Amino acid sequence: MIFITGGAGFIGANFVHHWLGQSDESVLVLDALTYAGNLESLASVASNPRYHFSQVDICDGPAVSALLKQHSPHAILHFAAESHVDRSIHGPGDFIRTNVQGTFELLEAARAYWNELPAPEKAAFRFLHVSTDEVYGSLGPSDPAFTETTPYAPNSPYSASKAASDHLVRAWHHSYGLPVLTTNCSNNYGPYQFPEKLIPLMIHNALAGKPLPVYGDGQNVRDWLYVQDHCRAIARVLEAGVLGETYNVGGHNEVKNLDVVHTLCDLLDQLRPRTDGSSYRAQITFVTDRPGHDRRYAIDAGKIKRELGWTPQETFATGLRRTVQWYLDHPDWVAHVTSGEYRNWVGKQYGGA
Ligand code: NAD
Repeated sequence: MIFITGGAGFIGANFVHHWLGQSDESVLVLDALTYAGNLESLASVASNPRYHFSQVDICDGPAVSALLKQHSPHAILHFAAESHVDRSIHGPGDFIRTNVQGTFELLEAARAYWNELPAPEKAAFRFLHVSTDEVYGSLGPSDPAFTETTPYAPNSPYSASKAASDHLVRAWHHSYGLPVLTTNCSNNYGPYQFPEKLIPLMIHNALAGKPLPVYGDGQNVRDWLYVQDHCRAIARVLEAGVLGETYNVGGHNEVKNLDVVHTLCDLLDQLRPRTDGSSYRAQITFVTDRPGHDRRYAIDAGKIKRELGWTPQETFATGLRRTVQWYLDHPDWVAHVTSGEYRNWVGKQYGGA
């Protein structure tokens, strides 16, 4: 069995689907079910006998330890986090609690469990920490892409809390020998992403006839990776990664935010034309930039390609088309996650969800 923290979130849920599809092993999802956790994303595997779920907060060390004793997993894949940059600027406390304190509690529970394992199981155990390229800070237009040796320079409370968690994971390897692996990935997109993030927010607002809010001048550049490619990378690092190493994961898809929105509008124009025949581009509105908005991220994923043979399978064009089609095919999932707490939050940010 493997443990997946945050498995009811966007990437975690995609990973659960990926894992159950490609291995015969069981998973236990550990998730506190915050606003971002959604069991509907796991509904199609709920009756699979290899899928298990426990509602638990990773900050609750004794509860995590009890689950480790009960299920004896050979790996912990740590996705659980507060993950939205805007929220971190408005309320950083939850980010410090889950991303820093929670990772610490999880590492301590993992260390105690790992120390007690018999030698063969001890050698096979892995703690894989899922992190972000945002820990490296922002790039100028002609700076080289982030590599695994780029110094950390986080700029938002989110990226600072993730940087802190990366350092804790590293230290638990160097100080205690815990067998850890870390991945730092660029922006993901795909099915089951909460519609506060750029791509699902734009699809959702476009279909609802609402403004498409683009920060600043829309020229900020991000590297985009289809979520299932990220899942394949994580599975590959778990299988063959060198202990204590970090691996950058990215799609070689540097795109300006405004171009992402234009492409989404063009896809929607084809797949779900507006009744009056005009383009969804008419709904684009420019809004005040996020404070300290990093200008450009770009990731050099050469190490994972060279050493572990991983490359992305989707291009941005094919992945984006799949994503738009998924949101068009799953209006109930979107309707359920956009009720309640999320509607209140987006209402405050963008004048209505
Ligand atoms: P998400 O916000 O969609 O999901 C986070 C999940 O963690 C939710 O299910 C939530 O309920 C759970 N959670 C939050 N606090 C918890 C706690 N205290 N205890 C237990 N569970 C808790 O996030 P995501 O986009 O799926 O990201 C997953 C991981 O990947 C994060 O660590 C994030 O930093 C990292 N990452 C994300 C991206 C991206 O583009 N989304 C890119 C690179 C790395």
